[in-house]
Amino acid sequence: MTTPLIRIKGLETHYPLGQRLFGPAPVLRALAGIDLDIPAGSFFGLVGESGSGKTTLGRAILKAAPITSGSVAYDDGQSAFDIGTMDARQERTYRSRAQLIFQDPYAALSPRMTVRDIIAEPLEVMGLTSSRAETDDRVREIAKKCRLNLEHLRRFPHAFSGGQRQRISIARALVSGPKFVVADESVAALDVSIQADILNLLKALQNDLSLTLLFISHDLSVVAHSCDTVAVMYLGRLVEVAPSRTLFARPRHPYTRALLSAIPTLDPDAPPRMQRLTGEIPSPADPPPGCRFHTRCPFAQARCRQEVPQLAPTQDGGQVACHFWKDLPDA
Ligand code: ADP
Ligand code: MG
Repeated sequence: MTTPLIRIKGLETHYPLGQRLFGPAPVLRALAGIDLDIPAGSFFGLVGESGSGKTTLGRAILKAAPITSGSVAYDDGQSAFDIGTMDARQERTYRSRAQLIFQDPYAALSPRMTVRDIIAEPLEVMGLTSSRAETDDRVREIAKKCRLNLEHLRRFPHAFSGGQRQRISIARALVSGPKFVVADESVAALDVSIQADILNLLKALQNDLSLTLLFISHDLSVVAHSCDTVAVMYLGRLVEVAPSRTLFARPRHPYTRALLSAIPTLDPDAPPRMQRLTGEIPSPADPPPGCRFHTRCPFAQARCRQEVPQLAPTQDGGQVACHFWKDLPDA
């Protein structure tokens, strides 16, 4: 076994929920004890309903969300960082190694920036190039890899389509030569055919640039064909982590099963999907005790209301956090 690129242990991220006169201030546990390894070179999927903590997890790895307790470690064989405790100098280096693909960076950028300037900005902020010519070379090189028309570099992005904008975001995230990239809902706003284009581009770039990708989506069907491993999150905890093929063929956790049965199938011979997800996701400010999924789980028993299930290995290479996964009827 090689060392994983990212190793997360007991990670908690708490957000304050206002003040209270007496007693401890209430907090929202957006991440409630995450243990996860992301192997180098993987296309790693992270799925779960909105509000489950996916963005917080992606950002905590990038040091863009608080690490209240626990640890996040990065090790690419050449450099290693303890994300929670690194100093400002290490943080600057880490920024060039680990990057976020913004869903829509234009929201945060000046509308007067050209595509060239948008892609070049990280190089300039990080001081990674020493001349304008060198910056231009790097921008052109990554723009080509992202299948952008080089003519477009002089234009302003507001006129571009969603797919082209996403390519610009990807180029911006990759221009500093990161090894690890978080793609947070990168295809959520796009048409299905454009989604496939962007996923193919990410896959090609991953091979070409030896990237490790954390691909976040609320939609399990999007990660189905692209990710090699998938982690499923519910209310700030991981409920299942497994190789994609295993997860889709033999989902173990009732929540994973419910997400899968929500994916429409075109196969007329497919057996009817039995399990529906009912009810709203509870508030992470006031999560249910025991297994956080028990309020929506058709198999919940007394133990599930009291005892928090921990991730434990299955026989087929995955991990599941359910007291009764071995006893469930076939999915
Ligand atoms: P997801 O990406 O899965 O939709 P998020 O990580 O965005 O989930 O959010 C998880 C929970 O943390 C949500 O209840 C959200 O309201 C809360 N949250 C996220 N960011 C903050 C913040 N900066 N301050 C307070 N609460 C936050
Ligand atoms: Mg999110």
